[in-house]
Amino acid sequence: MNLHEYQGKEILNSFGVRIQRGIVAQSPQEAVTAAKQLTEETGTGWHVIKAQVHAGGRGKGGGVKLAKNLQEVETIAGQIIGMNLITPQTSAEGKKVHQVLICEDVYYPGESETDEFYMSVLLNRGSGRNMIMYSTEGGMDIETVAEETPHLIFTEEIDPATGLLGFQARRVAFNLGLSGMAFKEMVKFVMALYTAYVESDSSLFEINPVLKTSDNKIMAVDAKVTIDDNALYRHKDYIDLRDIREENPIEVEAGEIGLNYVDLDGNVGCMVNGAGLAMATMDLIKQAGGEPANFLDVGGTADAARVEAAFRLILRDPSVKAILINIFGGIVRCDRVAQGVIDAYKNMGTIEVPIIVRLQGTNADIAKGLIDNSGLDVQSAVEFQEAADKVQAVLA
Ligand code: GDP
Ligand code: MN
Repeated sequence: MNLHEYQGKEILNSFGVRIQRGIVAQSPQEAVTAAKQLTEETGTGWHVIKAQVHAGGRGKGGGVKLAKNLQEVETIAGQIIGMNLITPQTSAEGKKVHQVLICEDVYYPGESETDEFYMSVLLNRGSGRNMIMYSTEGGMDIETVAEETPHLIFTEEIDPATGLLGFQARRVAFNLGLSGMAFKEMVKFVMALYTAYVESDSSLFEINPVLKTSDNKIMAVDAKVTIDDNALYRHKDYIDLRDIREENPIEVEAGEIGLNYVDLDGNVGCMVNGAGLAMATMDLIKQAGGEPANFLDVGGTADAARVEAAFRLILRDPSVKAILINIFGGIVRCDRVAQGVIDAYKNMGTIEVPIIVRLQGTNADIAKGLIDNSGLDVQSAVEFQEAADKVQAVLA
């Protein structure tokens, strides 16, 4: 589950990680009230208005702006709320902004320079260990740093038996070129950040930038936090943090009926049981010259109701030019699935796009007979290659 910046920062703060303070606002009036409150609490005169959407690169898209007085807070909040924010990480249509975070300005001048770092905490799947990845090149796109100056990216792997050790946190601070008070602050920051990552059952923290202020405090200015869905049952208080407006509506609907659906850009819709077979089917579609329009795992119980629900989801995508159903009848019998396909088809009236059904496994022959004799415009295939050929033929 992805979180908004303001939600991620709240979680960090609850574990003692210093953050740039902010208050979320839904309207320009709320933004002004929030700015006044921040001024009272932090003494800040300037504020940063930040669009809250599930996408990075907001600054580049005009979703992060500095306001030097309350009038500017109101004007800028009014511009950002309701805008369609297009960033390097959104689709071409962009994302609608429903709320903004009003933040204290933390780039104030002081006795030393401010400095921006990059820091993330994530699982290294290769070693099976959590790691902290960090860089002196903060505020920039980390992919660019990785490409152009990979020697400026450091990693620190954590042994699960000991957790993050003090010397490791000090190494991070050292590699970031810090000394004195900023060094101590960074050690505290890294220790708290790692505790927050583990305790919140997150699968990703990305803090870009981590800021060294001009008075040598270390704080999170941005926060991208992803909570591991499989651990949400342990965090009942996080469940409300989900913002369905940020998610793909077809994927949300699929989730509600227990279907595992991922929207993709192609033209061949697919309906498969089992994630591995679904991946193989997507390869098959590509080989046949098509592009998968979705990933869809209907799971073990492909009855008529589920097949129909899946059909409806696939057909919501206007770019679908053909549908390939590829079901292996292990526990579920192929004739049941075939009947499900036929019932769903009849229930839905006419389906404009060609449908190719490959049913393999228990009672596959009976299933093929059912499809072939149904009188419906559905083509059956037994072999993988045959299915691919038929997809190719209908796309041609
Ligand atoms: P992103 O563009 O989505 O990654 O959003 P960030 O939260 O990282 O903000 C983008 C940029 O805004 C940061 O890299 C900073 O340079 C700038 N920024 C954030 N907070 C402040 C602030 O308090 N004052 C000033 N002057 N700039 C800020
Ligand atoms: Mn950022």
